[in-house]
Amino acid sequence: MKVVLATSNKGKVREIIELLHDREVFPYTDLIEGFEIIEDGVTFKENALIKARAVYKALGDKDAVVIADDSGISVDVLDGAPGIYSARYGGENATDKDNLYKLVDELKNHGVTSSPAHYTAAIAIVSREGESCVHGWMHGAVITQLRGDNGFGYDPIFIPDGFTQTLGELDGEVKRGLSHRSKGLHLAKILIDQIKSQRG
Ligand code: IMP
Repeated sequence: MKVVLATSNKGKVREIIELLHDREVFPYTDLIEGFEIIEDGVTFKENALIKARAVYKALGDKDAVVIADDSGISVDVLDGAPGIYSARYGGENATDKDNLYKLVDELKNHGVTSSPAHYTAAIAIVSREGESCVHGWMHGAVITQLRGDNGFGYDPIFIPDGFTQTLGELDGEVKRGLSHRSKGLHLAKILIDQIKSQRG
């Protein structure tokens, strides 16, 4: 059964393929030309479903199972920002680094060097059997100092609960054990297995 990822974000693709390693998994851009998807939902769930539906339709392969991850970081001292806007916090064409520096600046503007924060991942699954969406969360804190190069996005400033190092410093294996994406994908795997067994 072909599982297609509705993302071309390299960090996400790497983590999702590692987490679903026992399956036939492809980023959709390996199969068709990449295209822009307008993520105009107001929740992670809505945006994940928008992406998964758009890719399922564009593939034109009714047997494909498409999964989409919509994720982001929510910072308490910023009233939950950047949240669903995490990928474009630093502007429309912002890079991961632009977004990271913008978040550090906002923390400094609020006169703090750290704040509780959490990551959310909504994982949508669209197939001929229908649509579903599951979630995973990882709680911790963000700091104004960038530490380490592992992971991607906001990882150099995120310290998971129970640790003193950032995800930039911690081994990828540690992140795999506790991340929002791992938790969401664990649930998504259960649904994918159900589809597989229904198809026989
Ligand atoms: P999306 O592609 O619209 O879901 O945007 C997700 C954005 O959230 C990414 O561009 C990152 O900035 C951020 N993000 C999501 N998950 C992670 C993670 O595991 N580590 C670091 N940043 C993340």
